[in-house]
Amino acid sequence: MKCIDQYRNPDLIVGLKEGIAHLAEKMARKITIMEICGTHTQAIGRWGLRRLLPENVQLVSGPGCPVCVTSSADVDRALYLASLDRVIFTTFGDMLRVPGSEGRSLQVLRAEGADIRVVFSPVDALRIALDNPKREVIFLGIGFETTAPVVASTVIKAKEKEIKNFSVFSVHKTIPKAIEALLDDTALSIDGFICPGHVSVITGVMAYEAIPKAKRAAVITGFEPLDILEGIWMILKQISSARFEVAVQYERAVRKTGNPKARRLMEEVFAPGHAEWRGLGVIEGSGLYLNDLYMEFDAMKRFSMPLVEAVDPPGCLCGEVLKGKVTPHQCPLFAEICQPQHPVGPCMVSGEGTCAAYFKYEREDCFS
Ligand code: SF4
Repeated sequence: MKCIDQYRNPDLIVGLKEGIAHLAEKMARKITIMEICGTHTQAIGRWGLRRLLPENVQLVSGPGCPVCVTSSADVDRALYLASLDRVIFTTFGDMLRVPGSEGRSLQVLRAEGADIRVVFSPVDALRIALDNPKREVIFLGIGFETTAPVVASTVIKAKEKEIKNFSVFSVHKTIPKAIEALLDDTALSIDGFICPGHVSVITGVMAYEAIPKAKRAAVITGFEPLDILEGIWMILKQISSARFEVAVQYERAVRKTGNPKARRLMEEVFAPGHAEWRGLGVIEGSGLYLNDLYMEFDAMKRFSMPLVEAVDPPGCLCGEVLKGKVTPHQCPLFAEICQPQHPVGPCMVSGEGTCAAYFKYEREDCFS
């Protein structure tokens, strides 16, 4: 507790608030900073950090919630695989309620009788495969560089143990490619990025070199209030001095070189390919798929998949929310038809979703 308290010290928070205000006043223009990671979005809401910032510093949320960026087409593919005979479909809990086309979800399918099980790790899915040799066990591999290495090591273990009834439906994505797509989008004008703390533990700083090249600020930041405020202060320093780099605020967890061992695991098992992101569209090289060496564990190759023509939930602005173009408040369905108990889009489903964070911490009626 003592360790965490130092990152919540009210005196230091006031000092940083003043430092940010001082820099922002000197710049005298609107500064837009995007936090990429859903955990940052949650922390910003939880600690009321938006309200500590001067009017000309705006925080917008980006595509850092893996559940939210999964396309409706991939949700439909997961639904198809989960409905097959003899299949036990395993998934992290967050994906259960994400609606695909026509509002169907894994939760609905499970209620209709499909064998869909929530697991906390791909290792649990592998264990289920060992316990059920006459069934096909599919694991829904979702997440960024943080979860992909664990999935990779599980696939390696499945190959070593010659487990024939286990496969992975990989919708893994990589964050740096998404940031590059945001930088290329001329309709967005993001001045700086709060880079994701967890992903950076694996990738290190090199993964974000496109940001300073595009003359935008980048700081890899931790998740406590002081971390985030210091990250914002460091971003403003870069902008005010026009000296751009990928700085590390979260030094207690992130090494500049990241975690090469975890990256090697990913490289051993996965190959990059096109991936469809909700809101961002298809981004070249941003998906991770099982490579030729491990293709026997690729659910997309093991089971024939019909053509999927997906439809996003009508009226849902998740795609715009994930690019920071609108806030959840600007979605007409927010907190009315769309609530965490009955979500319309994925950004309201996941604990890391922007709409869920706004609903929990930043609904206008919270402040009235
Ligand atoms: S409030 Fe609901 S419908 Fe609107 S963008 Fe968010 S998830 Fe989609």
